[in-house]
Amino acid sequence: MDHFTYRDGQLHAEDVPMAAIAEAVGTPVYIYSRATLERHAQVFKSALAGLPRTHVAFAIKANPNLAVLKVLARQGFGADVVSGGEIARALAAGMRAEDIVFSGVGKTRAELQYALDVGIGQFNLELEEEGAVLAQLAAACGKTASAVLRVNPDVDAGTHAKISTGKSENKFGVPISDAMGIFARLSGLPGLNLRGVALHIGSQLFDLAPLEAAYARVGALVAELRAAGHVIDRVDLGGGLGVPYERDKVPPSPADYGAMVERVTQGWDVTLMFEPGRVIVGNAGVLLTRVIWVKPGVLRPYVIVDAAMNDLARPAMYDAYHDFEAVNPSGTRVVANIAGPVCETGDTFAMGREIDAVQSGDLAIFRTAGAYGATMASTYNSRALVPEVMVDGDKFAVVAERVLPETLIAAEHVPDWLK
Ligand SMILES: *Cc1c(COP(=O)(O)O)cnc(C)c1O
Repeated sequence: MDHFTYRDGQLHAEDVPMAAIAEAVGTPVYIYSRATLERHAQVFKSALAGLPRTHVAFAIKANPNLAVLKVLARQGFGADVVSGGEIARALAAGMRAEDIVFSGVGKTRAELQYALDVGIGQFNLELEEEGAVLAQLAAACGKTASAVLRVNPDVDAGTHAKISTGKSENKFGVPISDAMGIFARLSGLPGLNLRGVALHIGSQLFDLAPLEAAYARVGALVAELRAAGHVIDRVDLGGGLGVPYERDKVPPSPADYGAMVERVTQGWDVTLMFEPGRVIVGNAGVLLTRVIWVKPGVLRPYVIVDAAMNDLARPAMYDAYHDFEAVNPSGTRVVANIAGPVCETGDTFAMGREIDAVQSGDLAIFRTAGAYGATMASTYNSRALVPEVMVDGDKFAVVAERVLPETLIAAEHVPDWLK
């Protein structure tokens, strides 16, 4: 459920007409709904209400905007981060350091040190050497790093290859069969409290069965580790729940997911950590765009919009589908292609899609753009960095400015010997 709905034939974000935002801020622009964000956070929390001890760390790579993080921090969410920059963002949004989980296959030594300095709550180790280095760094500054080992359960999550992370050939985690040996060598190192395991098998998951199979494998590993004398008090179950990009393709609900987790983790006696990203922010954002031209095509017309692959990369990167809707639909439908202005054939949002008929100058949105949208934006083709707006009832605010080419040019330098 979201708060982007038609009133009197005009698309609104909560109580604000989209046209008012276009007028004030220009296009393209991302628009987030605070009420939708809060609702999604609450639905996720209530899905976990039957579990004894839980901690939710929002995967902030999905949407690191400070205002978005602030809304989620107020819902009691911490952050799952994958870089030093994301730690800085989580802290800037008012999240507590101990609520931060540090994931990522390539944490640098400087990032590990920074995370120790600010006192984050959990390091998710991706390889044995990382654990040894972290132990050394922590011991050297008189601290003990709280850590879990990310295992790769070798399951096929059944999602797009570029967002699958839990198969043995993927770069993430250690083979689950190596975990016992790694625990034996790392636990007891001064500076390290290796207290559990983590997994994350992929994103935009539509089937709970592979997740349940992976969780069951981790449950068996926890029992083995305990039998070998290790104290295990945390399991990090990752993120990955899908969202409905297409209305007739409905993913499992957070409640279905919570029920599955309750079933499979029965008797584990650990704190369960969760790292949802997309499911919290996906439907809480849209990308508002204006039609520049409707260009006659050989087979179908091309609707050329002012948003492009640099603003919303998912279609070009993952062949992703985003619903396209006119802000003031006339009722007429046409079959058309939708593309942006960037000089790449991949800058195409849809081919041969039935959409609202639009004309040059009309406003339209791409739906479900709150996750992996603005955060992946670039300035390719010397386009401005796309701005972001948050709506709350009848008010709205710019929560990230449009960064103009002039600003980017000012950060570049021509050396003296070229002047
Ligand atoms: C990306 C990521 C997530 C979030 O994935 P979603 O599909 O957005 O829920 C969680 N944990 C880790 C380790 C990740 O890399």
